[in-house]
Amino acid sequence: MPELPEVETVRIFLKKNVIQKKTISVKIEDKNLRFQISKEIPEKLNFQMITKILRRGKFLIFLYSNNYSLLLHLGMTGYFRLSKTYEKIKHDHIRFNFNDKVLVYNDIRKFGFIKLYTNENVFESQHLNSLGPDALNLKFSVNYFLKHKKRKTNIKNLLMNQSFVSGLGNIYCSEILFDSRVSPSRAVSSLKKFEIENIIKSTKKILKKAIEMGGTTIKNFIVSDEKIGYFKNKLLVYGRESSVCIRCKGENYVKKVKHSGRSSFFCSTCQL
Ligand SMILES: [Zn+2]
Repeated sequence: MPELPEVETVRIFLKKNVIQKKTISVKIEDKNLRFQISKEIPEKLNFQMITKILRRGKFLIFLYSNNYSLLLHLGMTGYFRLSKTYEKIKHDHIRFNFNDKVLVYNDIRKFGFIKLYTNENVFESQHLNSLGPDALNLKFSVNYFLKHKKRKTNIKNLLMNQSFVSGLGNIYCSEILFDSRVSPSRAVSSLKKFEIENIIKSTKKILKKAIEMGGTTIKNFIVSDEKIGYFKNKLLVYGRESSVCIRCKGENYVKKVKHSGRSSFFCSTCQL
């Protein structure tokens, strides 16, 4: 499932390849996503240009030259591909035809969505106005965190809560808590100030590193039939259940636990 670094990698790729290029036509291939794709999208966006592509948490926002905008979420399996000509494949939902290339959105499990707004009201939409600060924004700081210290939940669930901080999911929460040596089950109210400082530092460090990694995978692509944004990251704890912890090499192997039905991986020796 794409999290902040994957979505940012997609944003950087699209920024390099489709910004300031006139869309010749927009075609809906299959309107069924989390929300049905509105037929207004082709009507409003044919012959328009994307002037900016922004990201908020795991959302992408395309701003168009005629003051319309698209709000996109990749859901669990959504991805873009950029080709010279269009060849339909299963689960293609919408395509944007440019003079010399075509950008296609494909989503096997259909949890993603694409919605039309105006440039003014997209930021007030229910999806964006409830988001907490982006995990990479300076607003996600130690002082901000301290204001939420009384919350009655554990740190894993708090970091997963998009209205507290936006952009994190299962994978990066495990990696961040491993890096900051804090157990995912710790009650938020029990966290010491230095632990909160470490969590904030680790968040920025891990996300920036992952974006760099994603960046190297798209550097030289002008047209890509690959699933953009799906890169292999070097994960230190996620998915390593029953393996020796790569940091402390302790006798307690990496464990998998569930918080609100979602898996967390951690080392009970070096994460307290
Ligand atoms: Zn360890």
